[in-house]
Amino acid sequence: MRQVAIYGKGGIGKSTTTQNLTSGLNAMGKKIMVVGCDPKADSTRLLLGGLAQKSVLDTLREEGEDVELDSILKDGFGGIRCVESGGPEPGVGCAGRGIITSINMLEQLGAYTDDLDYVFYDVLGDVVCGGFAMPIREGKAQEIYIVASGEMMALYAANNISKGIQKYAKSGGVRLGGIICNSRKVENEYELLDAFAKELGSQLIHFVPRSPMVTKAEINKQTVIQFDPEADQANEYRELARKIDGNDLFVVPKPMSQEKLEEILMQYGLNE
Ligand code: ADP
Ligand code: MG
Repeated sequence: MRQVAIYGKGGIGKSTTTQNLTSGLNAMGKKIMVVGCDPKADSTRLLLGGLAQKSVLDTLREEGEDVELDSILKDGFGGIRCVESGGPEPGVGCAGRGIITSINMLEQLGAYTDDLDYVFYDVLGDVVCGGFAMPIREGKAQEIYIVASGEMMALYAANNISKGIQKYAKSGGVRLGGIICNSRKVENEYELLDAFAKELGSQLIHFVPRSPMVTKAEINKQTVIQFDPEADQANEYRELARKIDGNDLFVVPKPMSQEKLEEILMQYGLNE
């Protein structure tokens, strides 16, 4: 069972990419569970056809400790198992807390069955701190991908996340598997992300183009792979799935200084 965490700045496209990527892996015959680790609890919406998945924390709050697996784990598109950890009530407590509670709950209830090929954690975070570090800190996820774009703040966040990975890699086995570019159509974006990933000692594993097809599918509460399997964008996600499935480059990232990051940005003509 490969346990994979997807990190990246808020709004960068983690949930969209994770759901499409897992749909792609599913089409390759892989068995998958997706665990949403964002208090927004929208990590599995497209897989569930918009069905509001009750989060683990909400279930615990409303039903007490006696939770059944069926009430927190739902089968989505292609039989992909979906869980949302949820978050505390706004303004109360650590937002990362739900992740710890959820993973423990899933373990107790026997959700990590031997037939699973992959477990994906879709984790919010510009930095890897507190509860958001949970999937890697506790050795749950051994493999991380960071979703980024050519925008300065996305790269800044990706570099910070790498610092977190580096820290936890010293005590555990967690490794960076690559950077996924979710394009914002920034100039020289491919070259920029490629240089950035190499500077980290990693790789740009795939460049996912920006496409109106993503929005179209989203309005229909589906992944692109379900909504229009023949679309070019569906091919991109299947390609990403194939690359991740065959990936053999796992590294302890070498985060860069702010100066180096700015240097790379400037080199590719981006100074926004
Ligand atoms: P995150 O989970 O990182 O917060 P989301 O996956 O929710 O981000 O994506 C934010 C928005 O960006 C969504 O409305 C989604 O439709 C859009 N989006 C993501 N990836 C793409 C893409 N490749 N092309 C077009 N729109 C995209
Ligand atoms: Mg999300």
